[in-house]
This record gives sequence, C-alpha cells and structure tokens, in this order.
Amino acid sequence: MSKYISVAIDGPVGAGKSTIARAAAGKLGFVYVDTGALYRAVGLYCYRKGIDMKRASAVVAQLDEISLEIKRINGTQHVFLNEKDVSEEIRLPEISMAASAVSSVPEVRTALLDMQRIIAENNDVIMDGRDIGTVVLPNADVKIFLTASSEIRAKRRYDELRAKGREVTFEEVLDDLNKRDYDDSHRAAAPLRAAEDAVVADTSGLDFEQSVELVCGLIKERL
Ligand code: C5P
Repeated sequence: MSKYISVAIDGPVGAGKSTIARAAAGKLGFVYVDTGALYRAVGLYCYRKGIDMKRASAVVAQLDEISLEIKRINGTQHVFLNEKDVSEEIRLPEISMAASAVSSVPEVRTALLDMQRIIAENNDVIMDGRDIGTVVLPNADVKIFLTASSEIRAKRRYDELRAKGREVTFEEVLDDLNKRDYDDSHRAAAPLRAAEDAVVADTSGLDFEQSVELVCGLIKERL
C-alpha cells in the first residue's frame, strides 16, 4: 500500500477531465498529472519526423530517440521532449490525432507506464487519461469516469479552439472527437473504458464549477 493517495480520472475527449481534475487537485492539495500530454509528446515527435503512425513498427523504432520528462513550473505541468518544453505545441489538433495513433501501439504504452506510476508512488495525485483506473493505477483509492454527451463535449472543445484563434468548424471538431473516441475505445491495448469499480460522472448538465464540486465531493466521500 502506497502512503500516498491516488485518484484516477478517465473518460472520452472533451469531458473536461483536465480542467476539472486540475481545479480539483488545486482545491484538495494534490498534484495533477495529465497523462495525455505524454502520448501527445510521442505523437509530436513522430509527426515532426513524418513517420507513418499507422505502422506500429515505424513508431516503435522512434522510441529509443525519445526522452520525456514531466516538470512542474509554477505549479503547472510542463512536458519536455528531448529537453525542449513542448507543452504548447502538443495541444494542436493534428497532434491530438497523432497522440491517438501512437497510443494504440503497446510498446508506446509500456514505455510510458513506469513514468506515470513513479509519480503516483511519490505524490498524492489526481491523474487523468484513458486507462488510469484500469491499467496504470488499478489500485487507485478513487476512480472516476467522467463523461458528457458528444455534442456538449465537441462544443466545449470548439469554443476552446476558437478562443485560441484556430479556424475550425464545429463539424470538424465533432468528427475528430468521435473518431478519436472510437479509436481509443476499440484499440486492443488498454482501451478507453470505465473500470468496474469506477463511479461514472456525467457533466452534460453541469457548468465548470458544478463539475469541480461533483468531482471533489466524490473524492472526499471515498477517502
Ligand atoms: O487526454 P488527451 O486528449 O490529451 O490525450 C490524447 C490522446 O492520448 C488520447 O486521444 C488517447 O489516444 C491517448 N491517451 C491514452 N491514454 C492515456 C491518456 C491519453 O491512450 N492515459
């Protein structure tokens, strides 16, 4: 038994996992860990090199050249790819798709597993991803599967991208989101699904503050 508390938050694209988990971690004094950023950094590396990410062997061949680090700067997680801070670039929509592609490669998942577990062994964490409750931290103290309808999730993602000045249409965002969720849920390696002992939280009818309250409440109730 670890002496630290771990909370696993999994769920589909745009369920608000990262913003809600970050806020809940701030309120409860936990370290927030965004595991999608690691897959995004691997995706970014392959994207920049023009690797055909549908070929698992081509992705695996890159792994030796990739070194990743998670650092906390002013309380915020930053991801370093081969010693360069790539925290901004990994947020581009094309890198979302690249992350989803490389994340289906079992060797990529294995390479990132220890990093995630070591952080949880040394901190009280709220960790978000797709397989935290099922694979990364199967003994997490609290497991939450956060979801919302796909239209609402797409609308939130669309507003976020437009606010950053990206020229995207709602339909493009909805299509990308549905494709990514389908691929994430249907891959053989650690597919997206709720752990049997996870509590499912639907944020469709809730605003941000209410969602944070819901998640904090679920965590406190279970600890
Ligand atoms: O959460 P985020 O959208 O940043 O994740 C990007 C992609 O990384 C996801 O679509 C998913 O394919 C992959 N991922 C994963 N397992 C995790 C976190 C993310 O497969 N624990």
